[in-house]
Amino acid sequence: SDKKDIDPADLDSYSKKHYPLCMRHIHETLRTAHHLKHFCRLQYGLFLKGIGLTLEDALQFWREEFTKLMDHDKFEKQYAYNVKHSYGKIGSMINYSPFNCIKIITDSVGPGEHHGCPFRNWDATLVKQKMLDHGVSTEGIDTILDLVKNRHFQIACTKYFEYTHSLQAPSTTINHPNQYFEESVNIIGE
Ligand code: SF4
Repeated sequence: SDKKDIDPADLDSYSKKHYPLCMRHIHETLRTAHHLKHFCRLQYGLFLKGIGLTLEDALQFWREEFTKLMDHDKFEKQYAYNVKHSYGKIGSMINYSPFNCIKIITDSVGPGEHHGCPFRNWDATLVKQKMLDHGVSTEGIDTILDLVKNRHFQIACTKYFEYTHSLQAPSTTINHPNQYFEESVNIIGE
């Protein structure tokens, strides 16, 4: 891989500058709840692997957050295995790929779960609030909500990218959260 390793200490700043809304929401939920359910950990964990977080750093990242609420022993027994598994280091040894937008958009999301695509799963009021919080202009919010209403979720995400990157567009419509991240780093730098 030509990617350099990511420092887990930078994730809070990356989530604000470079994450698509789906991953930023998961990251912020993890920071406040100190826990995430299975599919959420999987969606975010694979994304983090994709941006260059090593297995060792991933274990440290998840351990640090989860052990704010549970003891180390429980983390090692119930959660460390899954982290290693998603890096293909254990079990079936499959090296899982980060999920693309189609997969994330079509995943079902139950009550109390935070994975999935916000443009697909949230109600318009919440999308609008997040857009405001993230500095999207009124014009941008109208454009994005209109696209969401017409179920053009990836184009809405692409517009969100533009309105949070000084109107610079990604090279193609967003089709993968890791593409979103890489194009954002390319445009505004770390
Ligand atoms: Fe995430 Fe893709 Fe939805 Fe954007 S369109 S929020 S990258 S799942």
